[in-house]
Amino acid sequence: MRTTFAEGGCGCGAVRYTLLCPPTDVADCHCRMCQRYVGAASVTWATFPAEALEGVRGGVTWVASSASARRGFCAACGTSLFFAGNAGSSPVDVTVVSLDHPERCPPTAQIWVASRQHWVALLPGLPAHRDGGGDWAP
Ligand SMILES: [Zn+2]
Ligand SMILES: [Zn+2]
Repeated sequence: MRTTFAEGGCGCGAVRYTLLCPPTDVADCHCRMCQRYVGAASVTWATFPAEALEGVRGGVTWVASSASARRGFCAACGTSLFFAGNAGSSPVDVTVVSLDHPERCPPTAQIWVASRQHWVALLPGLPAHRDGGGDWAP
């Protein structure tokens, strides 16, 4: 029997998705790419094996955000949902706040804090990496 870890979707409801297992990593990202593509000072990403993201319903627009990665947005409302490397087996990152229950995936690290906006406080008690951190492939 198939198990489901979580469900989520975009702001307008056109896109819904299912995740089959818990994330392998959750990080709050302060990089300039996330700031620009999402339009927020930081973005909390949860990383999943590619096969854990299942049953994406609705139109997702994929944009090549660099030579090696792409980002997925709701084609109707623009909500930022996914980040993935171009290799087929690459993990997929999901924006935690697009989950129906984001409180289940709090960040365990802060990354790219060198480009953090000065009005954003770092979270106490969590590792803060100037770059992507040792176990985080941006
Ligand atoms: Zn939408
Ligand atoms: Zn980022």
